[in-house]
Amino acid sequence: MITNRRSFLKILGSVVAGAGVGTSGIALGDIGADAKALQSAASQARLLGAKEFTTACNFCSCGCGMVCHVRDGKLLNLEGDPDHVVNRGALCSKGAAMRATHESDQRAKTPLYRAPGGTEWQKISWDEALDKIARKMKEVREATWMETERDGETEVPVRRTDALAFLGGAQNTNEECYLFQKMARTAGSVIVEHQARL
Ligand code: SF4
Repeated sequence: MITNRRSFLKILGSVVAGAGVGTSGIALGDIGADAKALQSAASQARLLGAKEFTTACNFCSCGCGMVCHVRDGKLLNLEGDPDHVVNRGALCSKGAAMRATHESDQRAKTPLYRAPGGTEWQKISWDEALDKIARKMKEVREATWMETERDGETEVPVRRTDALAFLGGAQNTNEECYLFQKMARTAGSVIVEHQARL
């Protein structure tokens, strides 16, 4: 019997190298390889040379962790991250099917811009999109800035704008949320929300 995955892979390698594909099936049967081990080894072989990344499911606010394998820019595998504190490797049916969104031809891969009064969306670069957003935020902030606010008989300093709001998401890490809050407060916004509360 094969005791572990490593010895199984060794045997698999030597069988394939020595006997050729035609006879290796017979040899594997002879050495008692069970279907589960064979499937696992085949899956490992499929991912040889692939880079591993962690990511988060983009469907709901649980923010389950995922591990993905990429080779030559192509996504080969996507599965629950066993080390992730939220899901410990498990995924619900939506998360397990997330690969479909990655491969969908409807997936937006660049920012889209529709000019005022326009009817068509046009693709723009990330630099262009960030410039537009920064310019607009500055314009709105300056136009709506409140230095003070009346509280009864007293005028109190508030130094804020109510015209900018920030919306976070379940896929953001603690560190990203910290920076996000900093950016919102520095911009003078007190309206910071989270997708899960909507
Ligand atoms: S795997 Fe399911 S529960 Fe987890 S974030 Fe995705 S949709 Fe939500």
